[in-house]
Amino acid sequence: MSALRAETETRHRPIAGRLLIATHNPGKLTEMRDLLAIYGIDATSAGELGLPEPEETGTSFRANARIKAKAAAKASGMASFADDSGLAVDALGGKPGIHSARWAGPDKDFRFAMNEIQTRLMKAGAKSPEQRRAHFVSALCVAWPDGHIEEFEARVDGTVVWPPRGTLGFGYDPLFRPDGHTRTFGEMPSEEKHGLPPRGKGLSHRARAFLKLAEACLERR
Ligand code: IMP
Repeated sequence: MSALRAETETRHRPIAGRLLIATHNPGKLTEMRDLLAIYGIDATSAGELGLPEPEETGTSFRANARIKAKAAAKASGMASFADDSGLAVDALGGKPGIHSARWAGPDKDFRFAMNEIQTRLMKAGAKSPEQRRAHFVSALCVAWPDGHIEEFEARVDGTVVWPPRGTLGFGYDPLFRPDGHTRTFGEMPSEEKHGLPPRGKGLSHRARAFLKLAEACLERR
């Protein structure tokens, strides 16, 4: 392979101007907007534009992020940004994983989903923190209408606590205490949960994946 060809293939495409955030989840939308605003990116959302939600038929976080970003780029004609994420509990073989949203049922009741995790962990005899290891994963994909895509993935490791603690954040936040911290994500204000520079090096799975994307595709204002 020529040096020029290798360079062209590893070069990332910069994101500039307006971006569509391919989510209908208000919790995620707020987090994504906050992250993108630092880079002067003005973001609208698939929910706000009334775009349909594609079926997430992938078998990995990465595949589902790609499905959502590509569908939004096709429907809107705009560069589109999607995240697929979830909580994987070791003692449950990685569940709920890519089904994290589904475990909350049609009413999106995360108290129910957190109860389900606790019930299954107790059934498995997982009582000590070592037996209750888990991680959040975030896969990010940016898709352009011409078919180009950029993909990034990151995780944050921690412990499933019981009972859930905190009323901040969304989803499984009150159940998850990241390694090196005494508070759950549900007890942390957004700034602390993400731990972005200049104060931190990235704490949440989404912030860590986002920093990889920013490094490759964004210019800080
Ligand atoms: P999806 O990526 O929209 O398919 O759904 C991911 C689901 O995982 C969300 O609905 C939440 O339940 C959960 N999840 C993902 N990221 C977080 C987070 O940062 N905190 C709490 N729950 C999360």
